[in-house]
Amino acid sequence: MPVDPSIILSDDHADLVSSFQSFVRRELVPLATEITDTGSPPPAELRSYVRKRSAALGFYAGEYPQEWGGAGTPLTAVVLLHHAAGGSGCALAPYALGGSDGPSPLLRHGTPDQVERYLVPLVRGETTRCLALTEPHAGSDAFRLTTVATRTVDGWVIEGRKTFVSNADRADIAIVVAATDLGEGPTAGASAFVVPMDCPGLRIGQRYEGMSGEPLFELLLERVEVPPDAVIGGDEGVGAAAALAMDNLSWGRLIVAAQSNGIADHALRLGVEYARSRTVFGERIGGFQHIQEHLVTSRAEVEGSKLLTLACARLVDGGAAVPENAALAKLTATQTAVRVVDRALQIHGATGWIRGHPLEFLYRHVRMMTIIEGTTEIQKVIVAKAMGLE
Ligand SMILES: Cc1cc2nc3c(=O)[nH]c(=O)nc-3n(C[C@H](O)[C@H](O)[C@H](O)COP(=O)(O)OP(=O)(O)OC[C@H]3O[C@@H](n4cnc5c(N)ncnc54)[C@H](O)[C@@H]3O)c2cc1C
Repeated sequence: MPVDPSIILSDDHADLVSSFQSFVRRELVPLATEITDTGSPPPAELRSYVRKRSAALGFYAGEYPQEWGGAGTPLTAVVLLHHAAGGSGCALAPYALGGSDGPSPLLRHGTPDQVERYLVPLVRGETTRCLALTEPHAGSDAFRLTTVATRTVDGWVIEGRKTFVSNADRADIAIVVAATDLGEGPTAGASAFVVPMDCPGLRIGQRYEGMSGEPLFELLLERVEVPPDAVIGGDEGVGAAAALAMDNLSWGRLIVAAQSNGIADHALRLGVEYARSRTVFGERIGGFQHIQEHLVTSRAEVEGSKLLTLACARLVDGGAAVPENAALAKLTATQTAVRVVDRALQIHGATGWIRGHPLEFLYRHVRMMTIIEGTTEIQKVIVAKAMGLE
């Protein structure tokens, strides 16, 4: 029996995780059977319904404070919700929790007006957003930006080009990170701006088809004019985007780690079930030592990764987090998930390779986990620095 990580939670939060699991089983699994095209993301209306229903039940974006529409849920419990969503195997479950289209942690640093106008509707699941940070020549070195926001008498004019933006086709607002030009010499660092998607001058360029069916987009900004209060955090936010983002990195990375642990758990379960039932050479394949090696090694890696992720989330909740912990959890969980899904597919032979099989989808889906929220190599750079190896 797999280690149930919710044993480390208080009763209240363990109950939260089990009610989320029963919400997924009772409501989302039946709804997911309506999805006919399993190679593409679920239709927009279905995603929107799931977001709002989950928000009404207190799951969606529960980590945000109650006064902003959240539930004040500690990160340890949020991590377990994402784990449960990834582990459920239900295509709609991840959309029941805020992801890259949900409330942006950057908006936690917004002015009271920005929180009211932008963050609260996101937390309630009524709107979605995208984050436009990456540029063709600024990926891992995310703040080497060529998109520039220039201060004018009326506010700001933003010009540039962003790439690999998730959810740009459905978002209500874009959070655009741009180098700040105050007209006083070298740029004053980067600032994050809230830009409504219907703002003149902002348009979607190229659409990139992703391995798992989820597309990414190019965003073009041609003299996009925004008011002075579009900078997240107001005057204090000018030039401060990197510092604000640093503050949130542990959260994002631990959530990706949790999603990856959930996917790995799910793939392992599929592998074990198949190994117990498939007969080859007159024997159950689970009796072959090579198959046991795949499954036992996977089990050891997954259980270790789950505990590391939870321990790191606990440190964040306790206010004692350091960036290298989240980096360690993210790199361990995402690489583990890639390996475990690969092994589970191998155990299924051709059956797992066929389009439409859950492992065929997971194999394509899990691959992004080692790239998003900072690549594996960047997590290693962070840990190496913390070990004094610069
Ligand atoms: C599914 C998906 C969704 C995404 N969504 C968004 C989004 O919504 N908004 C957004 O702005 N961006 C998004 N991105 C982009 C993502 O943030 C970048 O892909 C990521 O930061 C890596 O940048 P890059 O792809 O340009 O790789 P590069 O930075 O060009 O890196 C290339 C390779 O070099 C390695 N490398 C780089 N620097 C070092 C170093 N110092 N030491 C060792 N190795 C190094 C990298 O790890 C990688 O293996 C998304 C990407 C994916 C795959």
